[in-house]
Amino acid sequence: MAFKLTVLGSNSALPTTNGFPSAHVLNIHEHFFLIDCGEATQIQLRRNKINFNKIERIFITHLHGDHFFGLFGLISTFSLLGRIRNLHIYADSALKDILYTVIDEKTINFQIIFHPLNFKKSDILFENNSIIIKSFPLKHRINTCGFYFSEKLKDKNIRKEFIQKYNISIKDILKIKKGEDYKTEEGEFIKNEILTIPPAPTRSYAYCSDTAYTEEFIDTIKNVDLLYHEATFEENDLELAIKTGHSTGKQAGLIAEKSKAKKLLIGHFSTRYPKTDTILQQAQEIFENTIAVKANDFFEVISD
Ligand SMILES: [Zn+2]
Repeated sequence: MAFKLTVLGSNSALPTTNGFPSAHVLNIHEHFFLIDCGEATQIQLRRNKINFNKIERIFITHLHGDHFFGLFGLISTFSLLGRIRNLHIYADSALKDILYTVIDEKTINFQIIFHPLNFKKSDILFENNSIIIKSFPLKHRINTCGFYFSEKLKDKNIRKEFIQKYNISIKDILKIKKGEDYKTEEGEFIKNEILTIPPAPTRSYAYCSDTAYTEEFIDTIKNVDLLYHEATFEENDLELAIKTGHSTGKQAGLIAEKSKAKKLLIGHFSTRYPKTDTILQQAQEIFENTIAVKANDFFEVISD
């Protein structure tokens, strides 16, 4: 089952020849989630061969242009391509008016369903049988949320040979899958661990941008497999990071370490630095398994 991340853009405010503002696409079990929608998102979707119609939910962290200026063009293109399926947008409630100031609602032939974000506390945004998506407040100059995407733990798998051996009823199979022990017709107790195989471990991804250093969301993303955390500045510019509501590479490393993440991706680098080596090195000094992402990078999370 897919759990794949495509980085469409990870620049900070300025687009460059080969770099674009924030936009990530996460494919979980062929459900496509777009996280932020900076300029050039639709071009980057084409470049990465992601079918426009597959995007079912869009998550906008905050209303700074580098995180949502691509939305107008993308929605217009959806319409021109004849989209009919609903589009869900999770964002600051102010986005709806902004969007319909730019785009004439009557020209859109699909339904846009707005879900206002809660900037006070962590919230469940979406769940089905196998996926859960949460938001959590970040610490930026304006209302900002991060997002957490995870598979849900499946039921245990029962060992088939025991079903026949003990002639276990469907009702009891369901109980065993949930973790109960089993009592045979002869009155023998069999431990659940003997009867079952554990389900595949769940996989998860968290997206934290833009934010100053804050540990407030660590419980929400604990043990995350893949963590994206912005790292706009080098440590020398810590004061500037604090002033502008951003983080340094070292601070991103600290969040990865404290949340017990398995892998850290950093991005949203300020274009003031010709190279990102120093930011990466400063993050790796704290959290070794760190990668500096760039546009068109692709990551697959595989169960252990
Ligand atoms: Zn911002």
